[in-house]
Amino acid sequence: MSKILIRGAKVLGGEPQDVLIDGETITQVGAGLTAGDAEVVEAAGKVLLPGLVDLHTHLREPGREDSETVLTGTRAAASGGYTSVFAMANTFPVADTAGVVEQVWRLGQESGYCDVQPIGAVTVGLEGKKLAELGAMHESAAGVTVFSDDGKCVHDAVIMRRALEYVKAFGGVVAQHAQEPRLTEGAEMNEGVVSAELGLGGWPAVAEESIIARDVLLAEHVGSRVHICHLSTAGSVEIVRWAKSRGIDVTAEVTPHHLLLTDELVRTYNPVYKVNPPLRTERDVLALREALADGTIDIVATDHAPHPHEDKDCEWAAAAMGMVGLETALSVVQETMVDTGLLDWAGVADRMSFTPARIGRAEGHGRPVSAGEPANLTLVDTAYRGSVDPAGFASRSRNTPYEGRELPGRVTHTWLRGKAVLVDGKLT
Ligand SMILES: [Zn+2]
Repeated sequence: MSKILIRGAKVLGGEPQDVLIDGETITQVGAGLTAGDAEVVEAAGKVLLPGLVDLHTHLREPGREDSETVLTGTRAAASGGYTSVFAMANTFPVADTAGVVEQVWRLGQESGYCDVQPIGAVTVGLEGKKLAELGAMHESAAGVTVFSDDGKCVHDAVIMRRALEYVKAFGGVVAQHAQEPRLTEGAEMNEGVVSAELGLGGWPAVAEESIIARDVLLAEHVGSRVHICHLSTAGSVEIVRWAKSRGIDVTAEVTPHHLLLTDELVRTYNPVYKVNPPLRTERDVLALREALADGTIDIVATDHAPHPHEDKDCEWAAAAMGMVGLETALSVVQETMVDTGLLDWAGVADRMSFTPARIGRAEGHGRPVSAGEPANLTLVDTAYRGSVDPAGFASRSRNTPYEGRELPGRVTHTWLRGKAVLVDGKLT
């Protein structure tokens, strides 16, 4: 592997510096470094970040390769500036055994575009009845530390308690999709003014908030660690803020789409806006942005949820829930958090790399941009503005809510352990 000199990049948005990579490692960071025999990447005006880490990706393999595979998903990840993604367990078969998580982990190793860390299911078949083999998945080659029934909520309080107790033994974490199932039966969108006007079944905020309240109290009771997936309401923010003030070991994520879009869009009946949890109100969006800025919400996670065309190109009621997100996440965060003055680029590095890597224990990722560290890096042209064209996506699916929307920022380069996987916006 060769040497690369990234010249004049604003490291984490700071003063321009040169970064020298030798093999898999960053060997020097400073002004005016000598290129020598290194290949030079001119990066003046661009921002250099640690490779992004996504704690919540649906790669769909095994079982739904028509929507995404580990290979296409990791290519999408590299395009979006990610060097590590955590793959959710709701595959076919479900990732509830050491065998399935090892299969996903191996496919990630073979892809070479982005590291894949499988998430193990909490319960057998995501059925919420019996704990899956958490210990065996942790001890497997995949080394699973994050467990989630995402897509479904671990709604039984006793099962949730047992899972929290179990993962505590090896420093794991349960990532909860907080949704009280009885309160959301038949729900198709956020419960509020718009759902009342449209006559669609509503999904009340309390369905999310009641589970979060219960789970932070359970985490406190057993002294374990809980992570809240895709937090979406202002009330959820208040509960997490309260829990953290009590010293409860809770972390939370927000998706890019919940930072930008509201339930007003459902008036179009375009299924591209159908997602779980649903798009909420302007008030919720503003509360989520503020919470991400002040650290109440720890990280941004994409909830990248690819669906084939036929599952989205149908009437609202029949459409699948979810949207792709890996290739637009950083642009949406720039639009909603950086260009609004709520977060600087060092803050983005924290919310999209350092902290998700720490929560998921992604070794070698979320590290400082300094000598001796693995060269997992992403270079961003933050001055770019352009409209989103899904035809250019590396993902196998196109179900983006941003088609034709102008967004800022473009990832031009991604390096995975010193290997260029994205150069001038093109996958290698
Ligand atoms: Zn979910």
